[in-house]
Amino acid sequence: MSGGLRTGADYIDAIRADGRTVYYNGEVVRDVTRHPAFRGAVASVASLYDLAAHPDNRERMTYEIDGSGRRALHCYRIPRSVEDLRAARGMSAAWAEATCGLMGRTPDHVAGFLSGFAAKPSLFAAGGAAYADNVQRFFQFARDRHLYVSYAIVPPQIDRSKPAHQQSDPTLYAGVVAERDDGIVLKGAQQLATGAVLSDYVYVSCIHPLQPGDENHAFGVVIPMSAPGLKVYSRKSFALAGDARDYPLSARFDETDALLVLDDVFVPWEHVFIHRNLDVCWNQWWKTPAHSYGNYQAQVRYATKLRFLLGLAKRVTEITGVGAMPPVRVQLGELAAHATIVELMIDAQETRATTDGEGVVWPAKSALYAVMSLQGELNSRMVDMLRELSGGSMIMLPPSLADFDHPDAARDLERYIASPGYPARDRVALLKMAWDLIGSEFAGRHQQYEKFYGGASFLVKQNMFRIYDFDAATSLVDRALAGVELPADRAAA
Ligand SMILES: Cc1cc2nc3c(=O)[nH]c(=O)nc-3n(C[C@H](O)[C@H](O)[C@H](O)COP(=O)(O)OP(=O)(O)OC[C@H]3O[C@@H](n4cnc5c(N)ncnc54)[C@H](O)[C@@H]3O)c2cc1C
Repeated sequence: MSGGLRTGADYIDAIRADGRTVYYNGEVVRDVTRHPAFRGAVASVASLYDLAAHPDNRERMTYEIDGSGRRALHCYRIPRSVEDLRAARGMSAAWAEATCGLMGRTPDHVAGFLSGFAAKPSLFAAGGAAYADNVQRFFQFARDRHLYVSYAIVPPQIDRSKPAHQQSDPTLYAGVVAERDDGIVLKGAQQLATGAVLSDYVYVSCIHPLQPGDENHAFGVVIPMSAPGLKVYSRKSFALAGDARDYPLSARFDETDALLVLDDVFVPWEHVFIHRNLDVCWNQWWKTPAHSYGNYQAQVRYATKLRFLLGLAKRVTEITGVGAMPPVRVQLGELAAHATIVELMIDAQETRATTDGEGVVWPAKSALYAVMSLQGELNSRMVDMLRELSGGSMIMLPPSLADFDHPDAARDLERYIASPGYPARDRVALLKMAWDLIGSEFAGRHQQYEKFYGGASFLVKQNMFRIYDFDAATSLVDRALAGVELPADRAAA
């Protein structure tokens, strides 16, 4: 700990060989901090903790907890003013800049959800007062230890045409299978836990609409990653794509995604926020500011990623000498317009934020869900534009920077792969980075991420539908129609 804050070394010590069960390529990984599939991402998360713990960054990254002298990360705070919200943004922006906006579920993401839950204990108390206490106690516990919590809140796909309890086996989707004096037992799977391999705890619950009969699946619990029976099945890690110099983003920022299998996992009562309660399970997302805080952070991260994409687009066009051509400037202008809209929608979440009766500040949902609704299409368009601008530059590269080690190859590469002002090695390094952003397997996963991280678009757009003031729109139509002289109704005449 440094000044009470968690350092990168503290974080690595905490997750190193703690007994978590991570499967990878048919093996159980004993130590994720050393395994080549995960160590790059672990090092990146550790660097974020170091950044936050550095004395120079104290104000930007942390605040003092209620005059106690103890400090916590801004993301672990219930905002009582727009300034509190902006402070969380400043912290998340610093972490996003350190990871080029390419790690979506850094510890500040689920911290936002936990803060949102803690802001509305009464909602959890609807299931029993103890649940509200559990939410608040865990929030303080995680805040005081600067924990990294991931989450898995979507059931595995299996058969989306049927509700949870009507799957071929009712214990396929994660659910409660036993209740004991000291807690509950969970069985089944939940997806798609980004960063679970790297985190301290995981929040497991359900954001999919549930229906009567699904009560066993209407739960919310925090589980330490080392809990007996919790099995983590990571997808393929792109950190192993090749030499880190050739895949500079995959190597450092692949946070990995995982299927969680809960094999009779015991959860003590103090870690249970919701137990067999359909209403609370649904309302936790929409009647607390949790979804707003978590996705406000996600937008700060995304805006940073777009700035990175813009930077690469500009450099790529400079390299190939097309940057000053009017049509290229138009394309760069369009890219800049998209990136600016995303950035300013974060401002709008702040300037249009509301304060509820309990003094809790909520970022404006209209601005949040409007930009989230369009993100999938916007992102695909922007990636496509960068492809358009780059021509064959990201393809016509040597397989590896190691090719420069061969004297003949180096001579040819230095002659034919260079551009004015860009020696071959620099040019190759930059274009490989650009390819890793938009063309590699890591990049492909990122496209999927931007489409689905906040839920499938048909759900996100329904959030927008729910909050848009359609009455204000239809009344305009009605007023306009009132001024139109209609032909007499023949039946009435
Ligand atoms: C890279 C990545 C990272 C993620 N990280 C996390 C994470 O950290 N934690 C987490 O909990 N989740 C995470 N998610 C999961 C994400 O929340 C889900 O993928 C998302 O909610 C969509 O659910 P699904 O994949 O089951 O798709 P489905 O619900 O199966 O939907 C797939 C498609 O089927 C169609 N469809 C399905 N149902 C309907 C319907 N009722 N009406 C109309 N069309 C329908 C739509 O075209 C939809 O896009 C992540 C996802 C991705 C891709």
